[in-house]
Amino acid sequence: MNLRCHCNNITIEAPLPEQVTICNCSICSRYQSLWGYYRPEEVKIDIGTKGASSYIWGDRVIEFVSCSSCSCITHYRSLPGQSEPRVALNFRMSSEDAIADVPIRYFDGKSIL
Ligand SMILES: [Zn+2]
Repeated sequence: MNLRCHCNNITIEAPLPEQVTICNCSICSRYQSLWGYYRPEEVKIDIGTKGASSYIWGDRVIEFVSCSSCSCITHYRSLPGQSEPRVALNFRMSSEDAIADVPIRYFDGKSIL
């Protein structure tokens, strides 16, 4: 399936996730993101000529990536040095129809992070 930012600068191909996660931590609640988790080799991320910005927060193990043109948060990825590299895709960048049958997991990040 395909995900793309609003201006199409960042496009992502990935298999349909088994579930998507809504987290209530301080950053996810602001982004209103809907995460699907992958190993890096499972996804293909193309960042176009307008580029991307990243935001590293807290314990500095992941960076959130947004389009430098339209500012959509498209994904986050673990920084180098993590034992299990991962990528989380923001399924707000996909069509609602495409993930209509995917169960939503609610994660209480607020009380953990
Ligand atoms: Zn964009």
